[in-house]
Amino acid sequence: MAVYTGPACRRCRALGVKLFLKGDRCFTDKCAFERRPYPPGKSRNARRKMSSYGLHLAEKQKAKAEYGVLERQFRKYFEEAKRQKGETGANLVVLLERRLDNVVYRSGMASSRREARRLVTHGHIRVNGHKVDIPSYLVRKGDVITVSDKMKAKEEFKRRFEENSRRMSASWINVDLDNVSATFVDMPTRDDVQPPFNENAIVELYSK
Ligand code: SF4
Repeated sequence: MAVYTGPACRRCRALGVKLFLKGDRCFTDKCAFERRPYPPGKSRNARRKMSSYGLHLAEKQKAKAEYGVLERQFRKYFEEAKRQKGETGANLVVLLERRLDNVVYRSGMASSRREARRLVTHGHIRVNGHKVDIPSYLVRKGDVITVSDKMKAKEEFKRRFEENSRRMSASWINVDLDNVSATFVDMPTRDDVQPPFNENAIVELYSK
């Protein structure tokens, strides 16, 4: 499974948006984007002039960075979104939201998507009681996500789950702190998600 392993904060600064790639740190004043909200290697007042292609490309890079998806897989999501009924851009956002690592993150079981991916690949996540160790697994309406008994027994995990789930607000995921589980109660809409990128710019980019 190929994933981007470079410095996370540089990506936020280069793309000009908070992508929340580093968990708890992103919510503190240690966030590099809060401290230096301009591209690495540039001065605070530097203005970047971008072509329309560059602007569209930047939107795709934001989406890929946020969900931790590389080009090949992202392209597959786009093709699938195009095949589905409705608006391609909105379909793309919903497909990305359905990734198992994303649902684990949104539920609060992990404080970043990177951490969520680790939980999945290390075999700690169950979907409807079955172990699933594929981060890109697409969660369906009604699926119940739980963790391994080993994780469930960890007080630190439960404490963080409670803490994270308080700051996450995904109306399409129902969190049960007592049973350490999360139910994907409904498909989110594009407006529910409010992604930090313009999905229509991505559609335009791929249509060129
Ligand atoms: Fe981005 Fe988080 Fe780093 Fe801030 S702390 S720059 S939001 S990854």
